[in-house]
Amino acid sequence: MKVEKNKVVSIHYTLKDDNGNVIDTSEGRDPLAYLHGNHNIILGLEEKLEGKKVGDKLHVDVSPEKGYGIVDEALKMVLKKEQFENSDKLQVGMQFQAQIGNNIAIYTITNIKDNDVFVDGNHPLAGMNLHFDVEIMDIRDATAEELEHGHAHMEGHSH
Ligand code: ZN
Repeated sequence: MKVEKNKVVSIHYTLKDDNGNVIDTSEGRDPLAYLHGNHNIILGLEEKLEGKKVGDKLHVDVSPEKGYGIVDEALKMVLKKEQFENSDKLQVGMQFQAQIGNNIAIYTITNIKDNDVFVDGNHPLAGMNLHFDVEIMDIRDATAEELEHGHAHMEGHSH
């Protein structure tokens, strides 16, 4: 069986940045299972896994355009503390989902200065080259339910 659209593919992966720092890894956890061809993982990785088989190991370099996108300066904003309900509890690194202008995004507080709260709605990995080491652990047919939902379900899990 090969990796192709609507197969559930399980991979072990390690993701590094340009400097070789590990950003994320499945090491020590169950492999990541995803429904291939449904944009459940980033495009640049999904493209390179197409046609591969169990046991294949590959190194994949992904540009920001096919990763988490380029940095959108319009998603960086300065808000006022009184615009937040919990203004006394704000901390750098806190995340919240909001629509600001036309942009619905998950914003991260990047700085707080006096009454100004600096927020950034870009994905934390936006603008970065991504370097994946991937091993394909399993490939199976998706269930009807998974195809209907457009994503993989963990073994025995349904919802
Ligand atoms: Zn589901």
